[in-house]
Amino acid sequence: MKLYNTMSRTIEEFEPRSAPDVGLYACGFTVYDYTHLGHLRKYTMDDVFIRTLRHAGFTVKFVQNVTDVGHLASDADTGEDKLEKGAKKYGKSVWDIAHEFEDYFFRSMDLMGNVRPDVSCRATDHIQEQLEMVIVLEKKGYAYVIEGDGVYFDTSKLSDYGKLAHLDLEKLQEGARVERVIGKRNPTDFALWKFERPGENRAMVWKSPWADRSFPGWHIECSAMAIHYLGEQFDVHTGGIDHIPVHHTNEIAQAEAATGKQPFVKYWVHHNFLRVDGEKMSKSLGNFYTIDDVLKRGIDPKALRLLFLTTHYRSEMNFTWESVEGAQKSWQKLAKLILQFKTETGRTVLSEDKLEKIDEYRQRFFGLMEDDLKTPEALSVLYEVTKSNIPGSDKYDLLVEFDEVLGLGFRTLQLTDQPTALITDLATVSEEVRQLVEQRQTARTAKDWQAADTARDSLVKLGYEVIDVTTGPQLRPIHPIVEKGQ
Ligand code: AMP
Ligand code: ZN
Repeated sequence: MKLYNTMSRTIEEFEPRSAPDVGLYACGFTVYDYTHLGHLRKYTMDDVFIRTLRHAGFTVKFVQNVTDVGHLASDADTGEDKLEKGAKKYGKSVWDIAHEFEDYFFRSMDLMGNVRPDVSCRATDHIQEQLEMVIVLEKKGYAYVIEGDGVYFDTSKLSDYGKLAHLDLEKLQEGARVERVIGKRNPTDFALWKFERPGENRAMVWKSPWADRSFPGWHIECSAMAIHYLGEQFDVHTGGIDHIPVHHTNEIAQAEAATGKQPFVKYWVHHNFLRVDGEKMSKSLGNFYTIDDVLKRGIDPKALRLLFLTTHYRSEMNFTWESVEGAQKSWQKLAKLILQFKTETGRTVLSEDKLEKIDEYRQRFFGLMEDDLKTPEALSVLYEVTKSNIPGSDKYDLLVEFDEVLGLGFRTLQLTDQPTALITDLATVSEEVRQLVEQRQTARTAKDWQAADTARDSLVKLGYEVIDVTTGPQLRPIHPIVEKGQ
């Protein structure tokens, strides 16, 4: 397997510290608003990467966090906490916001066919680990306190600070940053721990050696939880390209300073953005679409997945409804072909040249996937297979193997005439299903999450996924869809 490592800016042979085991940490989602298609692209491509590693024989331990505290609106450690902002926007408590958007995140992931992490860890469940790390950094002389503000990391104490992003520290010293916290010794210094300001009355606060009401900075959660679950040094860390200059740079600084070990992470993998009309799709810009918007247009999430696969993860991608509608057509054609191959019977003993051809396709496809995830080229091989002269049943077997890494769900495809769109009119479903939807709503209102989960699981058994949209719960049939007559 070959992989582009942001640290070296080159494609390297992937050699984990202790093969075949791979420790992988993916920066998780900040649960203050809806998961949008930009997030879906990032986490879908993480999923394709993890599937590829597993197919190549690696045993991956996949850890992903949930950022539910401490992520401030600005990377310069200023601005409002994103969770507090979300709570105000939706008129709910921060804890409710965190729970509901975490739920929405995983539902979106499930709809995309992404395998869940082996460990999903919330920042608020790991306050102790984060606190201990900051205490160690202070003891070792890497941290200093700014009165009434927080504990900061002194980046000038490290000779190699900024190595991931190739930061030009001199330029930064000259004051390139607009927003600046008063009292910072260096512009690149960052908050490890923050104190509640007088009159702020935050919902999420903890006692620390420095203040009774305080909370972790954003970066510390990822270093502390990654170390907790994967050890002081591990193999792979992923995130969006926006994380290179600040979040991941700071993760490296605090982790290597605290443990005294280098490198914290062997391979840094970064995903490029999904843009809408040339702008980054983001919660703060408000130009985002969710998986519900996709479903409402009658588009199968697997068509969106296929669309994501057509662009390499390190290239920028521009989202348009036209492109996803085009992908829907391609998906329907492909799904129909796969179902056709599946039903082709009369398997015969293959001639040597056909066997060789199958093997060649397999080598090419996985060769491309294992070469820094060349998904667009790998898809071309897939289409070549569909058009080739190898028998249908053998095409089916080969495509199902390709799908182990693509995650499009070829094996579970079935023809159905159910519409892809959400069922908005609950009067059209059975009484049993309606009652379960009601039970779940009642449980959610009472914040009885366990009962809500149980009702949701029962609905899944009956073949329905519940999707919460602003107007209330709606249902979606779970079967992968192929339009009738296509
Ligand atoms: P956040 O919830 O903002 O912390 O983002 C979670 C992950 O999604 C991070 O790794 C971001 O880099 C990534 N991300 C956010 N917006 C986009 C986007 N428009 N396209 C691709 N990835 C994104
Ligand atoms: Zn992170």
